[in-house]
Amino acid sequence: MSETKPISLDQFRKRKEKEAAEQYYPGKLVWLFCPKCETLEYTEIVSKNGRMHKCGTLVEEREVELDLRAEITMTEYNLEIINALLKKNSGFKLIKIISKSLDKALIALQSSEQTYREKLLLAAGMNIPLYPGNIDSLKDKLPIKDINPLGLIISEFRFEPEKRFNLKPSPRKK
Ligand SMILES: [Zn+2]
Repeated sequence: MSETKPISLDQFRKRKEKEAAEQYYPGKLVWLFCPKCETLEYTEIVSKNGRMHKCGTLVEEREVELDLRAEITMTEYNLEIINALLKKNSGFKLIKIISKSLDKALIALQSSEQTYREKLLLAAGMNIPLYPGNIDSLKDKLPIKDINPLGLIISEFRFEPEKRFNLKPSPRKK
């Protein structure tokens, strides 16, 4: 009685598209803490044999496995928000001092997001497509840990890294 139903080309194409849209890009990033300088940094370079900080001290390391595609998607979203805020801020040139210092803060945030994006691409060793859809529709898929007052997403990887080393909150960040 059983009859194998042939899959239509259209169904096949749809299934492939769905798979591509959902594909996970596994990767690793490493948090590094120098106990002497009390600095926290992250790197895409995994080192099995440990490494020295520039001060000559052996750093503590925490390897974190993550979905590079999810991180890139959140970072691109953050960059869009920052760009919109920079644009908006440039319309308030009358309050020059406030606008200047806000610009400076936004540019620092922009640079930190761009650096993160670069490291993710290096960790992947290739270009990574963003997850399709807007951020609201992706909320269950992305490891969003917090949203800061500007509306920027803080992913699980970037949330309170000092806790990974059992430190008090916010040592000097490099
Ligand atoms: Zn050091």
